[in-house]
Amino acid sequence: MNQSDIDALRDLPVPPQLHVIDGKTVAASDGALMDVISPVDGQVLTRMAKGTAADMQTAIAAARSAFEDGRWAGQPPAARKKVLHRWADLIEARALELAVLGVRDNGTEISMALKAEPGSAAATIRYYAEALDKVNGEIAPTPADVLAMIHREPVGVVGAIIPWNFPLMIGAWKLGPALAMGNSVVLKPAETASLSLMRMVELAHEAGLPPGVLNAVTGEGAVVGEALGLSMDVDVLVFTGSGRTGRRLLEYAARSNLKRVYLELGGKSPNIIFADAPDLGAAAKVAAAGIFRNAGQVCVAGSRLLVEASIHDAFVAEVVKAAQAMRVGDPLDLATAIGAVNSEGQLEQNLGFVEQARAEGGTLVSGGARVMQETGGYFMEPAILTDVTPDATLAQKEVFGPVLGVTRFETEAEAVQIANGTAYGLAGAVWTSNLSRAHRMVRAVRTGVMHVNTYGGADGTVPLGGVGQSGNGHDKSLHAIDKYINLKTAWIKL
Ligand code: ADP
Repeated sequence: MNQSDIDALRDLPVPPQLHVIDGKTVAASDGALMDVISPVDGQVLTRMAKGTAADMQTAIAAARSAFEDGRWAGQPPAARKKVLHRWADLIEARALELAVLGVRDNGTEISMALKAEPGSAAATIRYYAEALDKVNGEIAPTPADVLAMIHREPVGVVGAIIPWNFPLMIGAWKLGPALAMGNSVVLKPAETASLSLMRMVELAHEAGLPPGVLNAVTGEGAVVGEALGLSMDVDVLVFTGSGRTGRRLLEYAARSNLKRVYLELGGKSPNIIFADAPDLGAAAKVAAAGIFRNAGQVCVAGSRLLVEASIHDAFVAEVVKAAQAMRVGDPLDLATAIGAVNSEGQLEQNLGFVEQARAEGGTLVSGGARVMQETGGYFMEPAILTDVTPDATLAQKEVFGPVLGVTRFETEAEAVQIANGTAYGLAGAVWTSNLSRAHRMVRAVRTGVMHVNTYGGADGTVPLGGVGQSGNGHDKSLHAIDKYINLKTAWIKL
């Protein structure tokens, strides 16, 4: 794939996007549409259905009937597997089209979007397609006059609320295992990144997924997302997004049918650099990429850089060099390392965090300003602030933008204390040549994933989930399947 293939797609008109309910494309019940603004130029890219609570009820009802009549759950596993593989084939065949559409909608640099979006979505769907006929029931060890069987059953209707940073990848993390286990799904894409995910939903139908099994309703989180959360007929709600919305979803569950709620929330992930790291130059480049790719809009981003005092200044200089070598620019240019910030509001929030960090004693050593304003797009130079104290706002609150706070430490114990000193616990990394220290740190830092001498890149074979206020439950790997099944015991007197 080359630049001219991308350029051929970059200005294609995008037709208005409607809901997909019961296998059909449908408008909002009141006909309302909302503008879709591209962060690449701040212009209206297209319009999409502004869903109502009634639209969401219709989608949930369609999912419920599809589940109850067994049109999907009742199919032999081999048949379900075939459909999911065909879906992955179609995603791969349309990878460029999906990636470019997604970038125009959410601003991620295309080099990353190609791999992380259609590439990983297809791989995830294949992974669960292959897993679905390897999930067995169990027979428990009981007295001889009893046969006790443990069945794994689909839960029924799954609601999935998806964020805007990686809609296809994160969408597939939920849809893959949910559909593989035979559930029906109602999907709510993010307002600022619906288009490519809706296209992926359409491809599922082209692949032969029966109507009603996967429904998707666009619109505002506070309207259609709330209706999904408050539904009495949704069995499990899965979510990736902010802690603020995560809390709401738990409340919705409490106020309605006590549906199970699985949350993948934010992080303030520590990237810890010891003086004995094997290659400090490489560590600096990876540290910069680990926070600044996709303009820092990555849940596992290494947003806190903890550096051993003896190498602090030299290491920060290397990170600054690496950051400044990352080109901020047109997200549809293959040479761009950092694309657009997703929305104007998000950009303002990022700039506000930089200002606040400075007011609290942080030193801005690189970037931190809006750039390319003449394009109308939402671009920002990656910001690096040193002298960020462990209790500063920048060290405690998730920015979800290209803003890195650096804190120095003297000892391993202090590094652990600072690393564990936030409400979050999603990801982290330690860089050291000392094998024992590496293992000690993996144990001591409270996160869902710890990297050693690298940052990011953990693939679909391993679970991702947070501790503390980073959430509950896991995406990816066979462990994700647990969210989408019920265990049922059959106790049979012989
Ligand atoms: P951000 O603030 O970064 O946009 P959110 O957590 O608000 O993150 O968004 C993630 C997803 O949650 C989006 O699909 C959004 O529409 C949805 N959402 C936002 N508010 C609500 C809500 N009140 N109820 C249900 N879903 C919501």
